[in-house]
Amino acid sequence: MKRLYLVGGTALTMDPQMTLVQDSVVEVADGKIVSVSPRPGFKAPAGDETLNCAGSLVMPGLINGHTHTGMTLLRGVADDLPLMQWLMNRVFPLEQKWGKPDFVYLGTQLAALEMIRSGTTTFNDMYYFEADAARAAHESGLRAICGQTVIEMSGVDNPTHDTIAAFERFFDELKDYPRIIPAVAPHSVYGVSEGLMKEVIAFAKRKGVSIHVHMAEVMDEVEECKRRFGMTPVEKALALGAFEVPVVAAHATCVTESDMAIMASHRVGVITNPESNLKLGGRICPIPEFRERGVPVGVGTDSTASNNNLDLLTEAGTMAKLQCFRKGPGSLDVKSVVRMLTIEGAKVLGIDDRVGSLEVGKRADIIAIDINRPHCVPLYDPYSHLVYSSSGHDVRHTIVDGRVLMQDRVVTTLNESDILYRSREFAKRIEPKGLHPTL
Ligand SMILES: [Zn+2]
Repeated sequence: MKRLYLVGGTALTMDPQMTLVQDSVVEVADGKIVSVSPRPGFKAPAGDETLNCAGSLVMPGLINGHTHTGMTLLRGVADDLPLMQWLMNRVFPLEQKWGKPDFVYLGTQLAALEMIRSGTTTFNDMYYFEADAARAAHESGLRAICGQTVIEMSGVDNPTHDTIAAFERFFDELKDYPRIIPAVAPHSVYGVSEGLMKEVIAFAKRKGVSIHVHMAEVMDEVEECKRRFGMTPVEKALALGAFEVPVVAAHATCVTESDMAIMASHRVGVITNPESNLKLGGRICPIPEFRERGVPVGVGTDSTASNNNLDLLTEAGTMAKLQCFRKGPGSLDVKSVVRMLTIEGAKVLGIDDRVGSLEVGKRADIIAIDINRPHCVPLYDPYSHLVYSSSGHDVRHTIVDGRVLMQDRVVTTLNESDILYRSREFAKRIEPKGLHPTL
């Protein structure tokens, strides 16, 4: 069996001891990590593949815990609006007009390119026509959890008359994609009726999958929930039985002490999306409080329509600084931030048994980040640079399941110029008044 050796660099394993191996070799076989060891004395056997990682940080691939990759063609189409106006007046009408399988497939291809280039190896998606997103993800080589959404207020791909049958078909379509895990993603407790929400929960329970849902994103949502049900969104989810299955709660910025206690006593993980929350006028997620209570917290970008990029390293910097501002420097230290981007994010998604750290037997989802660049010199603490100096542009190699998806900044699985061309052409139809430069 042909092996792959990542030779040189500093391996940040993100194992429980936070083991760091200087001048390392990571050995990969059959898509799995076989060893992480110091290089001296290493000689690659003839015929095996080697990847030069000298001058790099070698670490687990980043995990984007909440995004909507099918929306990527709406990047920058609607800025400067608060969440509900952004959603109701701009995003939902655009999605009703354009939200078709070809839009989702191309948007996800474009997102996959950006994620591979910025070091994301797994993403947790929620969108319409998710089978088309899954196909694009599969072809890109990335790992993904694809959640087919259901929402009763937008009108796009809305199989509310036979939701469960549609979910069954969706799960069936994904069974040939080995790295893609299907999930269900009801938009929110305010966007789906009680009856349908209960059906979705029963389906998730029967299939043994998690539910991916927006929760307590802005105060308007909390107020609306209280007015309609006399409960917070978290209390409403509890009353509906949602927490009987593992739940990935996106945002959770507007939560009470009691909400956090409910989440801590169930299998709920939080994905924080700080840049989207800032941009849409939301609040700052109480990350240290969640983690103190044992609720794992991962990091997401949300969609490119509310961020407007998928760069998790810059997202992490924003997140850390927001907590400095909110609770004081040190309230979220740099090692914790890198854990949230990797092993803790994997835990929220229920896949920490296979990814999130460089440990023997885990799937080989690995990135190498160039530190031989002016903004990374000097280097006293690699975790500090990852959070406060580096960006996705510094990612040099991206590997998923032992397959090299990007080598020295060249993406190997997707035709980059073709995807960029087709995306620009599609955008001319979405917003003819846009700039649309000729390249
Ligand atoms: Zn979202």
